[in-house]
Amino acid sequence: MDSGPPVNPDPRRRLPAVDRLGVLVRSENPRLPSWAAVEASRRVLAQARQRLGDGASVSPPGEYGEDLLVAQALEEASRLASQRPRPVVNATGVVLHTNLGRAPLCEVAARAAFDVAVGYSDLELERESGRRGGRLANVSEKLRLLSGAPAAHVCNNNAAALLLALDTLARGREVIVSRGELVEIGGSFRVPDIMERSGVRLVEVGTTNRTHVADYEEAIGPETALLLKVHRSNFTQKGFVAEVDLGTLAGLGRKHGLAVLQDLGSGSLVDLASRGFPADCYAPASLDQGADLVCFSGDKLLGGPQAGILLGEALPLEALSRNPLARALRLDKMSLAALDATLGVVLEGRAESELPVLRRLLEPCASLERRARALAKRLRECAGERLRVDVERDHAEVGGGSLPGFALSTWVVKVSHADGAERLAARLRRGEIPVLARVRDEAVWLDLRTLEERDCEKIEDAVGALLR
Ligand SMILES: *Cc1c(COP(=O)(O)O)cnc(C)c1O
Repeated sequence: MDSGPPVNPDPRRRLPAVDRLGVLVRSENPRLPSWAAVEASRRVLAQARQRLGDGASVSPPGEYGEDLLVAQALEEASRLASQRPRPVVNATGVVLHTNLGRAPLCEVAARAAFDVAVGYSDLELERESGRRGGRLANVSEKLRLLSGAPAAHVCNNNAAALLLALDTLARGREVIVSRGELVEIGGSFRVPDIMERSGVRLVEVGTTNRTHVADYEEAIGPETALLLKVHRSNFTQKGFVAEVDLGTLAGLGRKHGLAVLQDLGSGSLVDLASRGFPADCYAPASLDQGADLVCFSGDKLLGGPQAGILLGEALPLEALSRNPLARALRLDKMSLAALDATLGVVLEGRAESELPVLRRLLEPCASLERRARALAKRLRECAGERLRVDVERDHAEVGGGSLPGFALSTWVVKVSHADGAERLAARLRRGEIPVLARVRDEAVWLDLRTLEERDCEKIEDAVGALLR
């Protein structure tokens, strides 16, 4: 009988076993946890098996050699095991950067969160009586003291605050909003969508660029529950525009017995008007102008943890806190502790010196220039001829859906390298100490507005490591 052509052994058989590859990965880098090494090996082998199945033995030799598989699995295992979120240096100049976690906490707030996180706490305990207590009692008292508001409520974030307010006050009824304020905040938060979700009927009035008080008044009917004003957090309108200010809208609400809610987005509890910031970012000002309720984020201009803060009249806020949704949207103990500590700092009058957001926003240009020159000098010393380092004055936005159209003066250190700015920026971003910066005019721009002194030291280390 003819022996026929030799049997072509399945090349997939030559691949190592998952366990063996996992062991090889761990012997290359013993710090990788074994779960990551095993899972990465499984993924790399599955890919190799699939490619071999498709292309069979036509693949060039060596492509599925052990060394290459180990290298691929090492990379995948490192990615799997890496922690995220992890700290980065924000050299973008954008103080409230949505992609970089918005407001950094002050030390006392971070410590307060840590302390309640690692042990038990009196979260819902009234220690005097030993009875169950409300978890919001303390923060709401501090919020009332800071704002003069009769009542306060706190939930998970500002989107939740708006949802809760609409659901409580207007479910199944109509809410009137200007067409110029039906905004998208980013990260798929759109005011019309939130309104639909909370079961209220949106009544749009006016046009994109102009809304008058008569537009609101004509839309008011028996089904109207609420007048809503939304801060245009991330854009400005210029030219042939008109909007109804909050005071006028509040007057209309009173005339018709309707509540007025302002979604302020970014609100401060320190009046920054005397420091050149827009007066409307001071949250208590909304109540002074007659709004029944105002809601804003804890981690924008306030400079605290992620939270949604509602200030205003006692009756609607009481109804709001009894809504079953409030339980679903409630703040966790760590954020609550951090918020309470942040509010304590504001009450003590130390917000401008201690809250990172305000410290960064309020640092004078002369100080930024001095620090920029010092950083440039140190970078020149460590890089020699390999980097070109210049210092320049610039402008940066506040970001994070805060103060649109309001640019702050700042100072930057411009760094350029023969390999090009994009490559330099990518290497800084992917380094052991990730540094995020702007790229412009063939240079990496390190903006002192968002850099504390310890960040400047990290940048020096990162640049040093990159040149080694
Ligand atoms: C930022 C913002 C929100 C969302 O706040 P989160 O705290 O991110 O949920 C809602 N409305 C306005 C106007 C905003 O600027």
